[in-house]
Amino acid sequence: MNFENNLAFAKAQDDNDSLSKFRDQFLFPKSNGKDFIYLCGNSLGLQPKVAQEVLKGQLDNWANYAVEGWFEGKEPWMFYHKELKKLMAPLVGASEAEVCPMNTLTVNLHLLMISFYQPKGSRYKIIMEGGAFPSDQYALESQVRFRGYDPKDAIIEVFPREGEETLRTEDIIAQIKENGDEIALVLFGGINYYTGQWFDMKSITEAGHEVGAIVGFDLAHAAGNVPVKLHDWDIDFACWCSYKYQNSGPGGISGIFVHEKHFKSDLNRFAGWWGYQENKRFKMEKGFIPEAGADGWQISCTQVMPMALYHASLQIFESAGFIEPLRNKSITLTSYLEFIINQVNKDLGVEQYRIITPENPADRGAQLSIIAKEKGKEIFDGLIANHVLGDWREPDVIRLSPIPLYNSYEDLYLTGKALLEVSKKVLAL
Ligand SMILES: *Cc1c(COP(=O)(O)O)cnc(C)c1O
Repeated sequence: MNFENNLAFAKAQDDNDSLSKFRDQFLFPKSNGKDFIYLCGNSLGLQPKVAQEVLKGQLDNWANYAVEGWFEGKEPWMFYHKELKKLMAPLVGASEAEVCPMNTLTVNLHLLMISFYQPKGSRYKIIMEGGAFPSDQYALESQVRFRGYDPKDAIIEVFPREGEETLRTEDIIAQIKENGDEIALVLFGGINYYTGQWFDMKSITEAGHEVGAIVGFDLAHAAGNVPVKLHDWDIDFACWCSYKYQNSGPGGISGIFVHEKHFKSDLNRFAGWWGYQENKRFKMEKGFIPEAGADGWQISCTQVMPMALYHASLQIFESAGFIEPLRNKSITLTSYLEFIINQVNKDLGVEQYRIITPENPADRGAQLSIIAKEKGKEIFDGLIANHVLGDWREPDVIRLSPIPLYNSYEDLYLTGKALLEVSKKVLAL
């Protein structure tokens, strides 16, 4: 498409966009009575207007039924997670049995590693992306130490080549092959939080399996953003948070995926009563027998309130047609933002902004990570003063994420306009 850097063009795109109506279903933060242009959905998604009502429904159930709420009401808590599973599965390309909402992300990463990181003999290493989100680094370090290994030896990080910002799939695969006999687990992010690079999850999984390793993904920045096919790509396990691209609110509930092929194996797990066979859970018998599927990884009883918030948001994804229509819009929206940033450089007459996120839409989701050559933090603060809210990553990166459910082309045109004005002022150009 030939993009244009003007308001009329942006508005015409919005008029042609069948998903633009969803914007009205979200609450935007304000300052001085004016809505922010919100480009921070990669960090915390906006609140769906319906969230209050859905949450209130469960507060009412609690008020009206108290303990009977586990079995009474329209959505008894005992089975409430199943309502969510139905809506989570199509978002990540899984069957209902393969997914389950529970706990929080890093906690689930630990729990799944208890099952899926099984070092034995000379096969004990984990291969991961260099510069992964710190929580994942700490989780892996501590898991490795817990099993009696030295993280410096047992964790292999794959870094970009000298002078490059993102990873080449061929380099990831080469490192997997090179260390093949020693690798117990391949654990990557779906999309790297810093660069916005969407890894070739299918090829990484194939390479991991070829050397006999288990392959898992942290989908914090991928779930609800890009169309992943966890089942078809034969990924062993995955987990994600729901508060970024899936708008479930701060600290929202996490989701896990366990591939069906593992349902019959006797994988160890840190068990709790809620993972016990559902129809016999209340017999309270000795000896843990897991419920089939991802549900068998549950530990504690259903966290109804955070699930209600996730449910509210998942219903919006359902009415938008889940991920494919959103992805189609997202590709164009992100490309438009890229065009706008490049226009700002042109208008400034200097290469002030350099996008480190891959150019190919197949290698990225809704986020652009932009290195500001000079005075990045001042410019970022200037954007906020101009009602544009992205996020800042030290030392010099501005991340902007246009979200197809609630961002418009007009948002991006106005962002470019604000960025140009602020840059001129801060850089005295
Ligand atoms: C956001 C994010 C987290 C956050 O983990 P929590 O346990 O939800 O605090 C972890 N890992 C990655 C890759 C993330 O992007």
